[in-house]
Amino acid sequence: MARFPISEFKELSTPFYFYDLSLLDRTLAEIQRTARDPRFKVHYAVKANANPVILRRIQAAGLGVDAVSGGEISAAIEAGFESDRIVYAGVGKSDREIALALETGIECFNVESFPELEIIDEIAGQMGKTASVAFRVNPDIDAHTHAYITTGLAENKFGINLKQLPDILDKAASLDNIRVKGLHFHIGSQITDNEPFVLLCETINNLVEEMEALCHTFSTINVGGGLGIDYADPDRHPIPDFETYFNTFRNHLKLREGQELHFELGRSVVAQCGSLITRVLYVKEGITKRFAIVDAGMTELIRPALYSAHHKIENLSSPNGERHHYDVVGPICESSDCFGKEELLPAIRRGDFIALRSAGAYGEIMASQYNCRPLPPSYFSEK
Ligand SMILES: *Cc1c(COP(=O)(O)O)cnc(C)c1O
Repeated sequence: MARFPISEFKELSTPFYFYDLSLLDRTLAEIQRTARDPRFKVHYAVKANANPVILRRIQAAGLGVDAVSGGEISAAIEAGFESDRIVYAGVGKSDREIALALETGIECFNVESFPELEIIDEIAGQMGKTASVAFRVNPDIDAHTHAYITTGLAENKFGINLKQLPDILDKAASLDNIRVKGLHFHIGSQITDNEPFVLLCETINNLVEEMEALCHTFSTINVGGGLGIDYADPDRHPIPDFETYFNTFRNHLKLREGQELHFELGRSVVAQCGSLITRVLYVKEGITKRFAIVDAGMTELIRPALYSAHHKIENLSSPNGERHHYDVVGPICESSDCFGKEELLPAIRRGDFIALRSAGAYGEIMASQYNCRPLPPSYFSEK
């Protein structure tokens, strides 16, 4: 069970993020245990959470970095990551970001289009550098039928269409300042069943064979991230099933001699170690509804408003009271600023502490100052 030091919370102003670093460490240890394979390289997708304390823990555990902006590359370097363990994806890399990445000496660009490839070649040439690249391919795996957050479909701003891959590989071979390392895939996020990953392995196996027939070989295969977590019951599954996840790739993906397999996990590394802690401001009795108005909103946790996501809501102050239904809402002037409708919760009073669980990923990093709200602080527990 997650434990929250409520007596210490009483001294603090709300809202704030609360991170259980011991859970983060256990999660990282489980990744190290289950990914143990000299061919496997696990990168952390910084976009999930770039809090410097969190980044340093992840760096200390030996993970590399998946960055999607120049800012993330800088944050990773500041947290102590080696530059040659940073891969850089994104459909809209600016010239300045490309130059920063080349200057930093990153491991690999994950290239998403023809014009991007040409600009990287041009800037690398001007700087007297060679850029290592992998091509992000859309494997056209419809994760949508399972209602995942899908990015792997053919018509999509991300990546390169399968049909265009041979052409871009030929193009890359003709460019002086480009070295092709591999292929990159990322089929979506919050994927909680194994089948799409099996499908991905089979697609990659076929694709690599086809490309080899055209004399294109790869030293790395990057399968992206996307492993989901248990939002409904974070205490039942505080650590995702990394064993099954890594074994899926171990068992289904045919790696060539000397080939490395890269992973880019974000959510599954950090989501469960973080909570957003908020105080109840008012309990408002409507005609047919009862509202718990809390002092955190979509500015501190936007996933419910943005993706209709649901985070488990807990009344930390009185966990055993009689249960009632509440709409738990924030103070922001938007109807979508709602954390839960008809939530069955132990009786809520003004001043109670409420935890929004599983907020370690895509929580703090997506916070905004909408309504001129200050960005909240974060606190850490080692226990
Ligand atoms: C977002 C993203 C990830 C991480 O996804 P998670 O679902 O958080 O694991 C990995 N790779 C790329 C390219 C991404 O855009």
